Amino acid sequence: MTTVTQPDEATAAVTTWLGQFGEALAANDPARAAALFTEDSFWRDLIAFTWNIRTFEGRDEITRMLGATLSRVQPGGWKITAGGEPAEAGGVTEAWIDFETSVGRGKGQLRLRDGQCWTLLTTLYELKGYEEPNGPRRPMGAEHGANPDRTSWQENRDQEAASLGVTQQPYVLIVGGGQAGIGLAARLRQLSVPTIVIDKRARPGDQWRSRYRSLCLHDPVWYDHMPYLKFPDNWPVFSPKDKIADWLESYTRIMELNYWPSTEAKSASYNETTGEWTVTVEREGQPVVLRPRQLVLATGMSGKPNVPSFPGMETFRGDQHHSSAHPGPDAYRGQRCVVVGSNNSAFDICGALWETGADVTMVQRSSTHISRSASLMEIALGALYSEEAVAAGMTTEKADLTFASVPYRIMHIFQIPVYEQMRERDKDFYERLEKAGFDHDWGDDNSGLFMKYLRRGSGYYIDVGAADLVANGDVKLVRGQVDHLTETGVVLEDGTELPADLVVYATGYNSMNGWAADLISPEVADKVGKCWGLGSGTTKDPGPWEGEERNMWKPTQQEALWFHGGNLHQSRHYSLYLALQLKAREAGLPAPVYGLQEVHHRS
Ligand SMILES: Cc1cc2nc3c(=O)[nH]c(=O)nc-3n(C[C@H](O)[C@H](O)[C@H](O)COP(=O)(O)OP(=O)(O)OC[C@H]3O[C@@H](n4cnc5c(N)ncnc54)[C@H](O)[C@@H]3O)c2cc1C
Repeated sequence: MTTVTQPDEATAAVTTWLGQFGEALAANDPARAAALFTEDSFWRDLIAFTWNIRTFEGRDEITRMLGATLSRVQPGGWKITAGGEPAEAGGVTEAWIDFETSVGRGKGQLRLRDGQCWTLLTTLYELKGYEEPNGPRRPMGAEHGANPDRTSWQENRDQEAASLGVTQQPYVLIVGGGQAGIGLAARLRQLSVPTIVIDKRARPGDQWRSRYRSLCLHDPVWYDHMPYLKFPDNWPVFSPKDKIADWLESYTRIMELNYWPSTEAKSASYNETTGEWTVTVEREGQPVVLRPRQLVLATGMSGKPNVPSFPGMETFRGDQHHSSAHPGPDAYRGQRCVVVGSNNSAFDICGALWETGADVTMVQRSSTHISRSASLMEIALGALYSEEAVAAGMTTEKADLTFASVPYRIMHIFQIPVYEQMRERDKDFYERLEKAGFDHDWGDDNSGLFMKYLRRGSGYYIDVGAADLVANGDVKLVRGQVDHLTETGVVLEDGTELPADLVVYATGYNSMNGWAADLISPEVADKVGKCWGLGSGTTKDPGPWEGEERNMWKPTQQEALWFHGGNLHQSRHYSLYLALQLKAREAGLPAPVYGLQEVHHRS
């Protein structure tokens, strides 16, 4: 796209708009403020106005939201972010902005069309009086001077570790010490919120260690940083799973987390009167009762296996397991392996089994989208998350906010051309796949991989090589539904028999509210409803339209219960807003939630 307006014209347009907007808000006039938006506008708010994660569409919704929040939020100080000159392209002027509310400081992103706001992103990044001790506020570390009662850093850490959860209750308990749980715990530590993160596994990172041997991250390094601690410049583009596990383990120490390994949450109940959870955990075999005020389930979006139940499974004499329990290929050299499913895990597992010399058959039950990793990196992620982006001055934080600034309702419009380009670029590849009988799709509206991920969290493979094995027949492909298992194999509905020594069910994962059912009660799981999905009305993402991921990183219908997770990028970015929501409650700041989501789907 070519820039048609001079930068100073773009700056003038943004300055004028911000001036009018700021005045309307200061005058507590929601309708006047909303009139500055286009009719088809979007305002996405990450906790700055709503203490919620919500997108408002059109002037009426914006007016209503402002009517309910303005007098409390008292926003002001709207200005263009220093060093970030607004720019115009294709009739849209974009600008980064700063603002303040009565309780915090925010960053935002603005898109103007014909002088009116088309999209606005508002995010809170810090609370006044509770700023993180970083940069000029970093701690001294050393205590200079003479002090006979001096305690060392190590002694202080030991003392904290010994008392938290024993003589002092944590304010927040995070169940699940994967990347999501520990990233959130790191943020809460910087905000001085007493937090314990527990994990049933013996070592931080074990979740990754336990996955199949060949696994490397599918997303590139620039997309995967943890909060505060970026991967070094010599870190590989695609992190092998044991390497990321070691990184996460180190992270828990470097970020000084109160991490309880080998600790499993067994049950939890909430007392509405005292505002306290009672959580029974088993710590290294011993029962311990914790009484946090806030409970975060960071137990993994890809953690609750969806294990199918086919007739005859109990009679099958070979090995069978869900992909999450797949130990890797070594024991299956020369054996007949049937992998049910055709998404990420299925392809990875098929590829590794084939490399070991197994006879592998993939059972494709429904269509799958495949993006080749190199194309995805270049066309879809490159502008924000790549070496080139870094060289051009893109920071992780700015990339995350840019990503967040595109409202979900219209995101597919931006995604469709990306996949049109990919279709053209990898034409031969797709032709070969389809010729091999693979049922390939581009998403219901041709918007490709990322929308599938956001809508249903499944239905795709990022190809790192295994697709070619299917295309050239090295991995055999059959299409159809599994009817039953026999003692010796898998039988499809059309009668096809697949003799097998191993059956892997690469059949995906269930909604995170299933964790709440296990830990708290089925009633609470139903009360909060399904996690994830936008309500787009596309396959496996039934409407009505929600506008945001259900239940993720924001208040739920169960007081003091939160869900945290997603990929590394999402966990990093949204942990900030979740941490601030928890801090506000711990600090006793009023944080009334506007527009608490309704529940439309229970599981
Ligand atoms: C095969 C595979 C490949 C993936 N590749 C990528 C990738 O390339 N990039 C990316 O960003 N994402 C990827 N993901 C998705 C996602 O990032 C990972 O699933 C990641 O592990 C999620 O992190 P998490 O912290 O949300 O959950 P998890 O890592 O699943 O951690 C949850 C933790 O909760 C613990 N837990 C559960 N129940 C309890 C309990 N009752 N008490 C105590 N502890 C409990 C578990 O032991 C576990 O350690 C992949 C997922 C899979 C399955």
